[in-house]
Amino acid sequence: MSAANLLDFDLDGLAAFCEQLGEKRFRATQLFRWIHQKGASDFDQMSDLAKSLRGKLQGIATLKPLPIISEHVSADGTIKWLFDVGGGNAVESVYIPEADRATLCISSQAGCAVGCRFCSTGHQGFSRNLTTGEIIAQLWYAEHSLRKRLGQTERVISNVVMMGMGEPLQNYSAVMPALRMMLDDHGYGLSRRRVTVSTSGVVPMIERLKNDCPVALAVSLHAPNDLLRDELVPINRKYPIDELLSACSDYLTAAPRDFITFEYCMLDGVNDTDEHAHQLIDLVRGRISCKFNLIPFNPFPASGLHRSDNARVQAFARILADAGLITTVRKTRGDDIDAACGQLAGEVQDRTNAKGRMTRQPIVVTLIPGAAGRGTPPSN
Ligand code: SAH
Ligand code: SF4
Repeated sequence: MSAANLLDFDLDGLAAFCEQLGEKRFRATQLFRWIHQKGASDFDQMSDLAKSLRGKLQGIATLKPLPIISEHVSADGTIKWLFDVGGGNAVESVYIPEADRATLCISSQAGCAVGCRFCSTGHQGFSRNLTTGEIIAQLWYAEHSLRKRLGQTERVISNVVMMGMGEPLQNYSAVMPALRMMLDDHGYGLSRRRVTVSTSGVVPMIERLKNDCPVALAVSLHAPNDLLRDELVPINRKYPIDELLSACSDYLTAAPRDFITFEYCMLDGVNDTDEHAHQLIDLVRGRISCKFNLIPFNPFPASGLHRSDNARVQAFARILADAGLITTVRKTRGDDIDAACGQLAGEVQDRTNAKGRMTRQPIVVTLIPGAAGRGTPPSN
């Protein structure tokens, strides 16, 4: 039997594992703190952990970090790591330091099966879900290597966003323990407001997240009507906008923030006209408390799409803002090292024929004046 990877266990899981070894819960807590708070990778480092437990762990448990393939540091301080997850797959994480916070963007899958047209991960197809250990290993490595590098004993990473490769809500069972470890006071001790799950809209899992571990929620909207969203974010065909918005409203009853963030990738001539902005307003105003985060599209050759120019992004933002919707435009960070949103491409052994699916007909610009979308109630 192969040794258990202790990075796979949240505190309850570790307590159950230790119980099998005849050890009390407080021992599991000590062990958990050594791993996640202090970054120990070797049982011998865990000086106050009973020798007997250390002895039992040798051989049956390991702490398996992800091998690093590369590290790139951007002129703006952003760092991108490429981690080897085996079988020819690699995933990326990005560290984004800012004046008042430091955010780590982590991956949840090797590739992604949703297949959004504007996303390079989507174009790569899907290989497999990451394990809990592989998800948390990204934070574990970034946090503890940066502490050493910066000569800091205090926490470095203040925020985590699940906005790297993959759709976190299509890997729910592995993501959930990882979220608990991020929040655990014996682990990374992050507040719920500072951990964000970003989803393309897996409606049933939004409901489960609300019940199991309500953290901040970002939803990748990208289109104001179903016809266009069906094209850009194919999961919309299964969970259309109206159902998605209902799930979002419901989520707010438990969410740590009193708004949902809608991400909207600005694609030249596709979803960025004044009419699209007005449709968005009709869609959400009076229905859901939200903020818009406009993301200038980060191009990659296979997409065949273009970034809206700055004036267009500003004009679009102004229309939303004038209607009372809080709107920000995301600053592009780390684009000199291809670490910007949607550029995370890692290495994926696709099992889904993404290339075949993606090289379909061009996107038809769908503008239906006055209609906010299939199944969407008329605006007031
Ligand atoms: N799968 C999740 C999280 C990962 S993507 C989701 O889709 O929400 C994180 C964000 O980057 C999403 O809002 C996604 O739509 C956006 N994104 C993807 N490709 C992009 C690109 N090429 N340029 C800008 N943003 C992009
Ligand atoms: Fe997957 Fe998100 Fe990329 Fe869509 S935008 S393909 S859901 S990672």
